[in-house]
Amino acid sequence: MAVKVASEWLNSCSGCEIAILNLGETLLSVLPHLDFVHIPVLMDHKYFGQTGAGDVHHLEIPEAVVGLVSGGIRNQEHLEVAQAMRQSCQVLIALGTCATHGGIPSLINQFGNEALLDRYYHTETTDAGAEAPGDSLPPLLDHCYALDEKVKVDLYLPGCPPHPDQIAEAITALLEGRAPVLPTKSVCDTCPTIRHGKGKVPVLRRFTQNADYQPGQPLSEMRCLLEQGYLCMGPVTRAGCAGNCGEGPRCLIARVPCRGCFGPVQRDGNQLLDMFNALASNDIDFTSVIDPSSMLRFSGGHGLLREGCKR
Ligand code: SF4
Ligand code: SF4
Ligand code: SF4
Repeated sequence: MAVKVASEWLNSCSGCEIAILNLGETLLSVLPHLDFVHIPVLMDHKYFGQTGAGDVHHLEIPEAVVGLVSGGIRNQEHLEVAQAMRQSCQVLIALGTCATHGGIPSLINQFGNEALLDRYYHTETTDAGAEAPGDSLPPLLDHCYALDEKVKVDLYLPGCPPHPDQIAEAITALLEGRAPVLPTKSVCDTCPTIRHGKGKVPVLRRFTQNADYQPGQPLSEMRCLLEQGYLCMGPVTRAGCAGNCGEGPRCLIARVPCRGCFGPVQRDGNQLLDMFNALASNDIDFTSVIDPSSMLRFSGGHGLLREGCKR
């Protein structure tokens, strides 16, 4: 019998849903075993009265074995949908770094709602001068929250977006009734660049010019970008973006430093503090970091980014 799946997107950009489509042929092979009972990205579902239970006053989501939720929780509607998903799904999966750690939208946690609305509606944005939204929209919560700050989560699939190989592993494991095997190490552990351990750069360089490498040269012949003096967050970021058989981490393949999009190596880690440690152990002056809060650009939930961090 097919496994019932419900999917929801909260404070999300839909990139995580595209990552599901990127499963490609694997998706075709698992689809016959899945029964999507609720998936707004593909089908029009009404939140009220969709199960035919006659109660049109409470948000309801059909019961499912597996619930996939992308995006964090930023407003009252996200919160209620997350709670309904938790109630309806036996296993709840946080899909993507917005759901696991707040993601890029949690950068807003450095500012209060008043400052946000003031800046958006009273400075030179496209909506400057327009009226701020009133009661017709769900009210904002005080912060942008990761999913597990509001409801219990059973499985975490970080990544912005997650790699299709890990999504495939999670789905296959659930169908087979076993625990999924997911990466636990750091991006550096999947990076083949050369580390000399000496002749390092003492202060960080801004990434305004290309790193030192020869075009066409394999990644395994390029020197580690951190050793070249670039703020590469590979040491403090969960592995996974290289997939099961890639040349290396996604950004490194493009010869660009890791920006930390899979969140901390340990689920409750702090990428900012961990990166200061990594810089110190690489003899790089951590006062040369221009914007320290940017090291939490993907993991500012769980109270790590707060009002007043930003000046
Ligand atoms: S984790 Fe990335 S891809 Fe997924 S919803 Fe958030 S911003 Fe989009
Ligand atoms: S710091 Fe960056 S370049 Fe160096 S090994 Fe780690 S991921 Fe690769
Ligand atoms: S290298 Fe870093 S920023 Fe780039 S995709 Fe991988 S985890 Fe994300």
